[in-house]
Amino acid sequence: AKRSGRGVARLFDESMDEGVRVRRRIETGLSQAIARDELALVYQPIVAHGAFEVVGFEALLRWNTREYGPISPATFIPIAEESNLIHELGDWVLAQSLDVLKSWPGQYVSVNFSPRQFRRHNFVGYIMERCQRAEVEPQRLQIEITETAIFDDADRAAETLYRLRQMGFRIALDDFGTGYSSLYNIRKFALDALKIDRSFIDGMSREKESAAIVRSIVHLAQSLNLTVIAEGVETAAQVDLLRVAGASHLQGYHFAKPLAEPLARDMAHARFLE
Ligand code: C2E
Ligand code: CA
Ligand code: CA
Ligand code: CA
Repeated sequence: AKRSGRGVARLFDESMDEGVRVRRRIETGLSQAIARDELALVYQPIVAHGAFEVVGFEALLRWNTREYGPISPATFIPIAEESNLIHELGDWVLAQSLDVLKSWPGQYVSVNFSPRQFRRHNFVGYIMERCQRAEVEPQRLQIEITETAIFDDADRAAETLYRLRQMGFRIALDDFGTGYSSLYNIRKFALDALKIDRSFIDGMSREKESAAIVRSIVHLAQSLNLTVIAEGVETAAQVDLLRVAGASHLQGYHFAKPLAEPLARDMAHARFLE
């Protein structure tokens, strides 16, 4: 029975399509990634427009597998998000970020939380407990969430954000403009920053529509007293257009790629010259 069982499994494996096999391997690999010491965080500077000084960093996860080399978070995060693995990974990311923050010279580190993490039971208590344990002030942690995380159960999300903000955490709405949220209904959420998605920044110099969208997002953000962080800034021309549009903060390869911790640390008080 054992033998035929294996045979059936093998047959099944062979008939599975490539996508399913890849997904399986990623799931298996991810479940061992922490124990195998394959994960790392890199940090990308967020720069204030005008004086171009570094005000904070976004922490981004890297997975360097022994078997297949580096795998992009754009590939493995969605797979982790579909299983419980996201909680384990997210917990590792948070612990690591808080550990770095203890001796970090920069103002804040911005950490990505997936919708599933944000919606977990008692998210507020969880974050607070981790910060207290690490002895990091809430003001130094920026929580990045996407529109997907907050619009499915808007009332509950609004309450969670309100409580986080009361405790002093910064809240940034990531990838803004790509989801369903209208500029109108983000008013009810306690936010500190809007991150304008890279696709709009990318289109700015080519299409008037993108530039117009960026200007209207900035305008809205200002009227709601929110910081605007433009993502994926790659060129001096974009920096110029964003100054005209009034964006207060910039992030992208034009300034720096995501950097390993020691390099990022050296940049914490850097200023970029235009
Ligand atoms: P995101 O949160 O929108 O992060 C920004 C992505 O844009 C990062 O890709 C970053 O390396 C990249 N980027 C920054 N500046 C530029 C630029 O000037 N040009 C271009 N072309 N790209 C730029 P990355 O690191 O591959 O991460 C991809 C996505 O994976 C992130 O998008 C985020 O959704 C997710 N992710 C990464 N780390 C974590 C994490 O720790 N937790 C969770 N839940 N998600 C994460
Ligand atoms: Ca982000
Ligand atoms: Ca983003
Ligand atoms: Ca994105």
